[in-house]
Amino acid sequence: MLLSIKVELIPNNKQISAFKKASGIARHAYNWANAIFKDTLQLRSTDKSIKLPSSIDLHKRLVAEVKTVNPWYYQTNKNVPQKAIKDLRTAWDRFFKKLAQQPRFKKKGKFDSFYLESGSKTKPKIKSDGKRIKLPSIGWVRLTEELPVKATHNCVISRTADKWFIAIKYEVEKPIVEADRPSIGVDIGIKELAVCSNGKVFKNPKAYRRMSKRLKHLQRRLSKKKLCSNNRKKAVSRLAKLHAHIANIRKDAIHKLTTYLAKNHSIIKIEDLSIKAFLRNHRLAGAIADCGMHDFKRQLEYKTEKFSSKLILVERMFPSSQICSNCGNHRHKMPLKERIFICPECGHTEDRDLNASKNIERWFEGIYIPIRSDQTVSSTGIACGVDKPFNRQIKATLKQEVNTKTNYVQLCLDLGSFG
Ligand SMILES: [Zn+2]
Repeated sequence: MLLSIKVELIPNNKQISAFKKASGIARHAYNWANAIFKDTLQLRSTDKSIKLPSSIDLHKRLVAEVKTVNPWYYQTNKNVPQKAIKDLRTAWDRFFKKLAQQPRFKKKGKFDSFYLESGSKTKPKIKSDGKRIKLPSIGWVRLTEELPVKATHNCVISRTADKWFIAIKYEVEKPIVEADRPSIGVDIGIKELAVCSNGKVFKNPKAYRRMSKRLKHLQRRLSKKKLCSNNRKKAVSRLAKLHAHIANIRKDAIHKLTTYLAKNHSIIKIEDLSIKAFLRNHRLAGAIADCGMHDFKRQLEYKTEKFSSKLILVERMFPSSQICSNCGNHRHKMPLKERIFICPECGHTEDRDLNASKNIERWFEGIYIPIRSDQTVSSTGIACGVDKPFNRQIKATLKQEVNTKTNYVQLCLDLGSFG
């Protein structure tokens, strides 16, 4: 199977300038092609006979119209603008298929990257001697660590904060795994990064929250710097470094979790959560964004393929936190602040997330989902037997009795204290 690897480069000043130049040309070609494409779309709205340009059409026009008046285009490899245009066309195709948003114009200094290729797939010409890699029209660039292959056909050079990276794809054989691995259900949480059905808990590093004070401090300092000044550039760089640091802490935690899951289990079940729906809830937004859920799913997809395990997405509507994982017959509302699940049917008491992960592990298509009952036993001393009890209008003290098979609990609910 094909895997990709990203390694940091140690370029000299001359090479950094060459990288910046190539990124600039890639951005220019992308933005130019995007403008042409948008104009064509506009014309097409009145005259349907006008065809949308392919990436080859766009490249031909670029050579004829842009390269002739902008000789600096020749200072870099010809693949750089060509691939940028190809990427733009793919981005539009993804937009038409409703898989992504409309491609936007790229901004200088953001997401700098470019593509290089040399030779063919059978005769790759980008060679590496372990410590260095020979890039077309740039030369030998030092590497921080060895690449898994001696030569490659293509690569992508990108920048994060003040560091440059090379990404390549390479063929690997699938590792041999143990024959009888168990299956596992994972509840992706807010408090914890993940709670597994076998009881293992992965802590959320909460990198963003931990660094938010320093982040605010750097942002404030940046806002006070004069536009276009050198001090502003320095402040931008400092802020970018901290953002990269936060992202790395998050990536590390998620990588450890996904490797553990894919390597040691034959079947991994996760909830197919809509991140967008979660992000809409502002009280949770920070924590969810901090977990990097999209990355979690993406990593699991390729790691399960690598370790020959299976990833199952549990359907979105499955109320994993509301059902009793012990008897499976009872279901009640679980507001987010409720941390313990108590089943009034069988008396099963368990941590909210662990109960949910066990339900996820049990899930199969067509699983019996009990009808939600109003009968609950609450750990915090609040009975949630009434629908919408948190009405600010209600200021009266409400006494409520909860009758269960296992225990009689008399609970007091003072709604006034919530008002
Ligand atoms: Zn139960």
